[in-house]
Amino acid sequence: APPTPDDVLRQLQEAEVKFLRLQFTDILGHTKNVEVPRTQFAKALSGDVTFDGSAVQGFTRVEESDMLLSPDLSTFLVYPQFGRDDRERGRVARLICDVTLPGGEPFAGDPRRVLRAQVERARALGLDMYVGTEPEFFLFERDASGAATTVTHDKAGYFDLAPIDRGERIRREIANRLVEMGFEIEASHHEVAPGQHEIDFRYAPALETADRIATFKFVVKRIALEYGLLASFLPKPMAGVSGSGMHCHLSLFRDGQNVFDDSEGEHGLSATAHHFVAGLLDHAEGMTAVTNPLVNSYKRLVPGFEAPVNIAWSTSNRSALVRIPAKRGPSTRAELRMPDPSCNPYLALAAMLAAGLDGIERQLEPPPAIQRNIFRMTVREKRHHRVKELPADLREAVDELEKDEVIAAALGEHVMEHYVAAKRAEWREYSSAVHAWELERYLDLV
Ligand code: GLN
Ligand code: MG
Ligand code: MG
Ligand code: MG
Repeated sequence: APPTPDDVLRQLQEAEVKFLRLQFTDILGHTKNVEVPRTQFAKALSGDVTFDGSAVQGFTRVEESDMLLSPDLSTFLVYPQFGRDDRERGRVARLICDVTLPGGEPFAGDPRRVLRAQVERARALGLDMYVGTEPEFFLFERDASGAATTVTHDKAGYFDLAPIDRGERIRREIANRLVEMGFEIEASHHEVAPGQHEIDFRYAPALETADRIATFKFVVKRIALEYGLLASFLPKPMAGVSGSGMHCHLSLFRDGQNVFDDSEGEHGLSATAHHFVAGLLDHAEGMTAVTNPLVNSYKRLVPGFEAPVNIAWSTSNRSALVRIPAKRGPSTRAELRMPDPSCNPYLALAAMLAAGLDGIERQLEPPPAIQRNIFRMTVREKRHHRVKELPADLREAVDELEKDEVIAAALGEHVMEHYVAAKRAEWREYSSAVHAWELERYLDLV
């Protein structure tokens, strides 16, 4: 049974928690929180804490600026103590909240509600979506004044060990802290680029995984700070080396049974799996603005760094957008490889689920799987296989998002309006800025 406010209140007392954080996420994926002291715990648990919604990006509409935070009590967590500061100030706990309007109606701009609506849509079909994820990130040095740099803090590569891998200790500490917080860590290792790391956590229902991604990013950044470093989830912090992705492993279950698995089906996959993959491919262009939301995201989606460029699927090749890992049985799943860790995890998972469900509802069939390295195919071969490309930049991606009625409907009018406006403004700002590259290339040339 889900915990009651009294259960949580008791746990708060037992753990001697001094501050409770009420956490939510804005449309652009920034985690926000307001912290309340002990005297306010009861009020917070009954959902009576208000905040000024007009101060949060994408939450505007001044006339409904008083918003309420309704805690999801199943997300209660006492934070580990991250450093001396924390130990001196006392224990902190958190609850992830849904955002509600003063009258009690759900707020349409709350990304968590957007995901929940898709989860419920799947439920109505008897389906539960599970997601496992592989977020990658960089650890960078800070300069003497504490400001961020792009100087990587080691020179190691894929799966390297200490002492070349100076991230070993910090990665282990991150993993330990996450375990204390109820995460099941499946693997943690140095990634391909210097200073790049990956920590994988076990698959869970979509909403839980989205909550975990938000928590994960906060914990990684917090612990890096403790070591005097900067943890960055920027998709492509340096040209010429691998960027950071966040592969998402998607599977559907009905009554606890994996519905993608079918030993009789082609590639050992059920018809439902084929439809789901077809939906992902069909809406790939439309959802990229959500899964890859920054101007910088598109600098990762280029050939040569194990990041996808082409819209295709494969049961073997890692150059494809959707890969079906070899394991069958309860682990049968589709790995979507374009998302990056700068995305809003709630909106991104909602878009993926909406795309896959649309494939199931319309019984779409995917084109034949491509088993070769697509990066080595000629333009003619790609045309022959009708392999399209992901949007090349944020502007193109936003255009595609606006054309995709399924993804737009999943996000809802409020989120669409604010998201598209914010992303268009971001693109305009970027296009009118003069970049270092232009000066290097042209300044004394013309
Ligand atoms: N860093 C690669 C990416 O951008 C992924 C590398 C890998 O995990 N195989 O997606
Ligand atoms: Mg991995
Ligand atoms: Mg990886
Ligand atoms: Mg992967």
